Amino acid sequence: MRENYTLPRLYVDADLTAGAGLLLDRAQSHYLSSVMRKSVGDSLRVFNGRDGEWLAEITDVNRKAAQLKIGLQSRPQTTPPDIWLCFAPVRKARNAFIAEKAAELGAARLQPVLTERVQFPKMGLEKLELTLIEAAEQTERLDIPALVDTVSLGKLLDEWDPKRALIFADEASSNTEWEAKPALEALPNCPAPAAILIGPEGGFTDAERARLRDCDFVTPVSLGPRILRADTAALSLLTLWQAVQGDLG
Ligand code: SAH
Repeated sequence: MRENYTLPRLYVDADLTAGAGLLLDRAQSHYLSSVMRKSVGDSLRVFNGRDGEWLAEITDVNRKAAQLKIGLQSRPQTTPPDIWLCFAPVRKARNAFIAEKAAELGAARLQPVLTERVQFPKMGLEKLELTLIEAAEQTERLDIPALVDTVSLGKLLDEWDPKRALIFADEASSNTEWEAKPALEALPNCPAPAAILIGPEGGFTDAERARLRDCDFVTPVSLGPRILRADTAALSLLTLWQAVQGDLG
């Protein structure tokens, strides 16, 4: 299927089956006609996160609307490793950066979490959803990471399914008596289903730290002697988990 990789690739909502017709929305029609300069008879690929990836032919296109006919399936649906990223909202541009990179690194789900020191609780989930779709299109993944509503840390822990390991990135472990194993030592004990928890710019409070460490399903980890920004910490830990337990191994 390598030869298909040069064809544009679009996420669509509709169910995908051979021979079906499909209308694209205005933004995607504009992208196909004006940005990609595609015309009737040209091919592309479409996916909806459920039915795998399909070849499609343009049967009609202008800047405002485009129609496709679905051809053969080019790839069957796959499921990513079951790793979630739970993260405290940070500044808007950095939230977008975290979302984009988490999608590229194969996170299955993004869970915004409100902790005591969150300074920017508003997330703009709709915009982030678009960021996740674009990242999935670009990165050749066949699913879109789920983006779920923001919850408080207390509620997250109260309702946590204990079968899912919660890998808690604790910045205090780098220079205080709050001990934690280095990530590479801890991660072999945290197979899927798992989740990573990253704090806000101000870090976690000691009360939050104590509460987290009280939970049997929580594994505190250190990311080394340097304090990383939240986005760097999220991407580093996701990459390490994917290497130890996920699909980078
Ligand atoms: N202001 C805080 C740092 C917060 S960094 C302080 O100076 O202590 C944001 C988040 O990134 C942290 O809450 C933690 O989840 C993660 N993080 C950053 N550096 C880390 C490290 N060395 N080990 C583990 N987690 C880290």
